[in-house]
Amino acid sequence: MTEAVEAGAPASAGPDGAAAGGPTDADWAAAVAAVRELRADARVLLICHVNPDGDALGSMLGFALGLSRLGVRQLQATFPGPAGVPEPFRWLPGVELLVSQDDAYPDPDLVICFDAASESRLGDLADRLATAGTALVLDHHASNTGFGTVNLVDPHAAATSVVALGLLDRLGVTVDAATATGLYVALTTDTGSFRFEATTPAVHEMAARLLATGIRPGDISRRVFDTRPFGAVRLFGEVLGRATLEPAAAAGHGLVWTYATHDDLARHDQPAYVLEALIDSVRCTAEADVSCVVKQSGEAEWAVSLRSKGAVDVSRVAVGLGGGGHRFAAGFTGRGPIDEVVESIRVALSAAVLTPRS
Ligand code: AMP
Ligand code: MN
Ligand code: MN
Repeated sequence: MTEAVEAGAPASAGPDGAAAGGPTDADWAAAVAAVRELRADARVLLICHVNPDGDALGSMLGFALGLSRLGVRQLQATFPGPAGVPEPFRWLPGVELLVSQDDAYPDPDLVICFDAASESRLGDLADRLATAGTALVLDHHASNTGFGTVNLVDPHAAATSVVALGLLDRLGVTVDAATATGLYVALTTDTGSFRFEATTPAVHEMAARLLATGIRPGDISRRVFDTRPFGAVRLFGEVLGRATLEPAAAAGHGLVWTYATHDDLARHDQPAYVLEALIDSVRCTAEADVSCVVKQSGEAEWAVSLRSKGAVDVSRVAVGLGGGGHRFAAGFTGRGPIDEVVESIRVALSAAVLTPRS
């Protein structure tokens, strides 16, 4: 459920250099203008990435509530794929603005994308980039391809909600507790509850500002991170029980991996999203720098999560296999038998080692 984002990483740009140094003054001004110039009857569609996590949903819904405070009335939020919101996020203020992808405005005046590094992360909703009047992209992936008309991409931001708050501030929106809740969920998700390197002084200052609105961090953490059905606890036991440690992988830095199938989910009567938290248990393994969870997503299709403690650039592995992400938290979609997917990871890992093993 959490994705490690390293702070102060060298700003590696997307293919066209869009993400290099974060948004310029001109980018911010263009984004402010795109919102300010909306007519009273304008339709605004917010989209976050497929299989939305806390940053995707939290930054999108927090921003949506801020926009409604500005007087935007025709406002929808959506994400590609099945419409169900994962249980940990169903209580978020603003969920009432969510519509299924089939009900989303076909040709909105403004589309705003959250936490998506490329068009492919928008699934069937990617066509709105062409049908919308303006496409505004808010993101923090260094690999962002700059696919919007206006791109606010800050690879140094700990979460997309840092960028979202930056824009709300420039629009003069007062951040209330409802807006703060989504932005805070996003920040805690992507910093691993303020444990990862991305947890800069600025992150704590933003958290302090959001907490000052009166939101309750204990309640929020319990709902988002510390609650799961008993069936999921049993499922985790089984899936963790078959984790494999390969000390020689990643040029000796070590790989630990496990997998979960649709059949595993069905046996424990669990929805797929419960598996998002699994990587946090697997990546604890002391003997491995790299951790991996392979989750069945189709007949011969697998959603792969990769994490590194610092010795390996897993975004290079993921990008090489058709996915994306950050240096120490990345993912891709694997196709074919699981053995072949894992073997492709082993091969790619040996080429992505940042520091030789001493
Ligand atoms: P996850 O393991 O799903 O938490 O994702 C970790 C990071 O990798 C996040 O920054 C995701 O946006 C990115 N990511 C995961 N899966 C994909 C994919 N199929 N394509 C591109 N980026 C991905
Ligand atoms: Mn995300
Ligand atoms: Mn994010």
